[in-house]
Amino acid sequence: MFGQMMERQLLISSIARHAELQHPRREIVSITADNPRHRYTYQEAFARSRKLANALSRLGLQQGDRVATLAWNDYRHFEVYYAVSGSGFVCHTVNPRLFEDQIVYIINHAEDRWLFLDPVFVPLIEKLQSRLPKLEGCIVLTDDAHMPQTQLPRARSYESFIASESDSFEWPEFDERTASSLCYTSGTTGDPKGVLYSHRSTVLHCYASAMPDAMSLSAHEVVLPVVPMFHVNAWGLPYSCAMVGAKLVFPGSKMGDAETLQSLIEEERVTFAAGVPTVWQGLVAYLEKTGKRVDTLTHVLSGGSAVPLALMDLLKGRHDVEVVHAWGMTETSPIGTIRSMSPEANALPEERRDALRARQGRTVFGVELKVADDDGKEVPRDGKTFGALKVRGPWVAAGYYKRNGDDVFESDGWFNTGDVATICPLGYMQITDRTKDVIKSGGEWISSIELENLAVAHPAVAQAAAIAIPHPKWQERPLLVAVLKPGASLSREELLQYFAGKVAKWWIPEDVVFVEKLPLTATGKLSKLQLRQQFVGYQFP
Ligand code: ADP
Repeated sequence: MFGQMMERQLLISSIARHAELQHPRREIVSITADNPRHRYTYQEAFARSRKLANALSRLGLQQGDRVATLAWNDYRHFEVYYAVSGSGFVCHTVNPRLFEDQIVYIINHAEDRWLFLDPVFVPLIEKLQSRLPKLEGCIVLTDDAHMPQTQLPRARSYESFIASESDSFEWPEFDERTASSLCYTSGTTGDPKGVLYSHRSTVLHCYASAMPDAMSLSAHEVVLPVVPMFHVNAWGLPYSCAMVGAKLVFPGSKMGDAETLQSLIEEERVTFAAGVPTVWQGLVAYLEKTGKRVDTLTHVLSGGSAVPLALMDLLKGRHDVEVVHAWGMTETSPIGTIRSMSPEANALPEERRDALRARQGRTVFGVELKVADDDGKEVPRDGKTFGALKVRGPWVAAGYYKRNGDDVFESDGWFNTGDVATICPLGYMQITDRTKDVIKSGGEWISSIELENLAVAHPAVAQAAAIAIPHPKWQERPLLVAVLKPGASLSREELLQYFAGKVAKWWIPEDVVFVEKLPLTATGKLSKLQLRQQFVGYQFP
């Protein structure tokens, strides 16, 4: 017997309708190329989004057609998110940091028909235009006054595109499983792979991520997404903030600029921000240098790569900002785990509490995790046994867009993340490596992430990466590649000595090499692949 409840579909447009009625006057503040501080309300945002929906309806698009964006975080990009998905089209957020060949590949693979792009990306698309035969038209996210001269197909400014449209538009109703947005994972090898989110997965992810022991979002928060809107939908914040009515502060293209972030935090009274660890590293360095403050900021969400405990302690101790560690992937929308402290965890002695703070956290309801050995058997949740991390849930990808046969989608319904992890008895998961980055010494695994976290806890070290180097006796041994802080001096021996007593003896790197900088991927993460290539043929002394 089925229950007798209404089957209202979970649609992104329902978030828009709710926000407009419940949070009409809450603000959205943006830095854009044509305005250093644009400011308006959710009510105005969704009225303009409906104007855009009317304009889109004249383009002859069919349900499910892909409309791309190539843009930084601001209010116009926010309007495009809602208008495209709300109309039943798919919003494909293209990452401008990808290599040109990859941008061409994903726009063609997705068969994007229209592109909304920031003025700054016009020269890039002009250059690639001849290789993008399916692109029918381009809307530049600016007004006529700032519209660049361009030969892009059917190009016009966003403001002129929506100017004469009515703001009355009935969001269509359709099945909640309808595709809503598309994001390609950068992938260190092979072609990028598309993750096709649905309205249902997006809305459920939104509910879960807003919960108190997750991002703890509410109408009282002022949120600064420092994670780009082209990277896993800025971790869902454009949806979840609208759902709860949090004020949104968009930093435009200034995401890597600590001075801008600090002034936005202070002037807009930001309480919560989200981004990758390098953002917080940059912010802390700026605060230390200038003596400036971030008094309203109470917590930041850090994900994308492991955040060292040393950085958490610095932000908490000096600036009273709690770093909430989270783990996720493009394939998981992205929230998988968030580090919230349970009563049992809080009751532990300080040292063990700290160890949990450094872990990637516990699952939010909806996500299930397991750690499996090479035979696929689940390993004990003892906090020690390593294995392949697998995940399933209603906002986890079941396949890649227009691809078949990827064996990461296992026949028993789990997605193999490619991460190596442990789970402790209290449920806290810790990523110890990417499968391809583990260092196997004498048949045993050494966690490169743990070595890196220890190295950056040294006051002279700015960044560090541990990679495997082939070894005649032990198969592989760790090499630590480190970048020193400006003006700092440290010898190889001193750094190796620093590891003594902190990890098992055989975990201590075999050697240290100091470099000026480490190679990064298109999403700003350390590229171990490139680093390994740099050290091909390296011999230990
Ligand atoms: P890409 O880096 O290719 O854009 P994703 O953004 O989907 O791909 O990255 C997902 C991967 O990032 C995870 O599988 C994991 O290896 C790593 N990752 C994400 N969050 C964390 C974290 N908090 N600690 C360690 N690794 C993380």
